[in-house]
Amino acid sequence: MSILVINAGSSSIKYSIYNTKTLQLIDHGLIEEIRDHHEGFEVMRTQLQLHNIDITKIDAIGHRVVHGGERFHEPARVDDALIREITALIPLAPLHNPANIEGIQAARAIAPSVPNFAVFDTAFHQTMPPYAYRYPLAHDLYESFHVRRYGFHGTSHHYVSIQASDLLQKPIESLNLITFHIGNGVSACAIQKGRSIDTSMGMTPLEGLMMGTRCGSIDPSIIGYLMHEKGMSIEEVDTLLNKKSGLLAIAGTNDLRSIIEARKSGDANAALAIDMFAYRLRKQLGAYMSVLRGVDAVIFTGGIGEHSPLIHEMVCEGLEHMGICLDRAKNSAFETRIHDEASTVALLVIPTDEERQIALYVQSLLSA
Ligand code: ADP
Repeated sequence: MSILVINAGSSSIKYSIYNTKTLQLIDHGLIEEIRDHHEGFEVMRTQLQLHNIDITKIDAIGHRVVHGGERFHEPARVDDALIREITALIPLAPLHNPANIEGIQAARAIAPSVPNFAVFDTAFHQTMPPYAYRYPLAHDLYESFHVRRYGFHGTSHHYVSIQASDLLQKPIESLNLITFHIGNGVSACAIQKGRSIDTSMGMTPLEGLMMGTRCGSIDPSIIGYLMHEKGMSIEEVDTLLNKKSGLLAIAGTNDLRSIIEARKSGDANAALAIDMFAYRLRKQLGAYMSVLRGVDAVIFTGGIGEHSPLIHEMVCEGLEHMGICLDRAKNSAFETRIHDEASTVALLVIPTDEERQIALYVQSLLSA
């Protein structure tokens, strides 16, 4: 029997299907340019039939849901009340939660007797203390308007922290970790004894580190300044900061591979983009080293985190006094452990797998 994992976007559905017992991946696919999610699920039904899987008879469906607000600390079984609660959170994630809900509804329509579970990107970070998640803003903005840090990429940070505990052969409850998810979206997480105590993304995924097309943290006054001086609307500023900033704005592309190539051929903007990108990661590393008061491992994941020795080097070099000693040869050879013997902090490169982590959550909920 099998578990289906769904990541429903506004015009696409990404799916993976696993054996419920062994969690072996049976198939995965991406259905794009769908008119609606019901159509997408019909296409998927046909694709699953090729593997002799009847979508109406599988064990469960796990859905990625971006925003779980303060309500969801862990994955939850879907019922009408839960859908109402995710709907109520739409103002916090207007770009993502609506598509996630449509995916859940299409799943319930096509396979009414199969249980659905929602897995939230924010849930892992619900263990943050108030002094980490509150912004220095009026109480009312938190209490009535839910303005606080939530953090994202939680499923990924959780997954790689479990993998690190396996690699280090130490229980997760004994480990302090800093995880860097570096893809198009970029976030860092400070994990104390297995629990997230701080993360760089905020109320939305715009805050924190420099990203592919998002600016990350900037002086908030820039927004009013641009509206006033450049006559931009709030929608234009929003698009600028989310879609036209970050690596794209500085280097002309958000593809780090081509930026690295351009830097080699002397492109000054490419060099600046890489310097800025790595510098911000490095500052974050320093911040979380002091937040955690002792770190067992730093973990790199995501498209860039998994594949760019250059970024590992630029983030870690010269930090021997902090117990961070990168082994250049191991790093260039794309090894999993990229620290040397003198390092008191393990430096690990671990591929993330958010779909598998969702399947793991669902598997444990099914057996509970
Ligand atoms: P997303 O957040 O959209 O899932 P990914 O995690 O796939 O994105 O990361 C995409 C980024 O990873 C791109 O900037 C891409 O250039 C970068 N990347 C992928 N492979 C490499 C590589 N070998 N070297 C450097 N960057 C890479």
